[in-house]
Amino acid sequence: MSNSLIEKGYIEVEDVRNDSNYPSEERFKTGAVAIIECLQEIPCNPCKDACPYGAIVLEGLTIRPQLIEDKCIGCGLCIAKCPGQAIFVVDKSKEEGSVTFPYEYLPLPEKGMSVTAVNRAGEPVCEARVTKVVDSKKMNKTRLVTIAVPVELVDEVRFMKRVEAGE
Ligand code: SF4
Ligand code: SF4
Repeated sequence: MSNSLIEKGYIEVEDVRNDSNYPSEERFKTGAVAIIECLQEIPCNPCKDACPYGAIVLEGLTIRPQLIEDKCIGCGLCIAKCPGQAIFVVDKSKEEGSVTFPYEYLPLPEKGMSVTAVNRAGEPVCEARVTKVVDSKKMNKTRLVTIAVPVELVDEVRFMKRVEAGE
């Protein structure tokens, strides 16, 4: 298990980048891809069944899932099925980057809304713009929100908060 998760309660960017599930630079160049930030060996596996493309391999209930990056199309279906909120889809292939994450609050943000992108510790990282909200019955109560952020901040950003009036 990563030291940062034990000591701080959240995963540091470097732990994610050094993990075997971090996609290759070649894969990032081709478009959106999942990042599985599931660093503990826990008895869990819905991500595997959620992926219709066979891009998540999980050989045993307490083995960590492994992404087959070339099979992943970045659809985000696995995000909504992960009880640990440990899966994100990022896109670093364009001039502007994007991060897609699970969102379980109401009201939902709206496409075009200006928000503050925050990191894994909930600290502000940068201004961002909501580019997509997926609210599907198939996903139960977990919606997917995508925000646009500078491409160099994609690995840092993992959630958003609303910009309060007067900020
Ligand atoms: S983003 Fe889509 S294709 Fe990629 S691992 Fe998740 S469900 Fe599979
Ligand atoms: S569903 Fe989420 S928490 Fe469970 S094994 Fe998959 S990535 Fe880890």
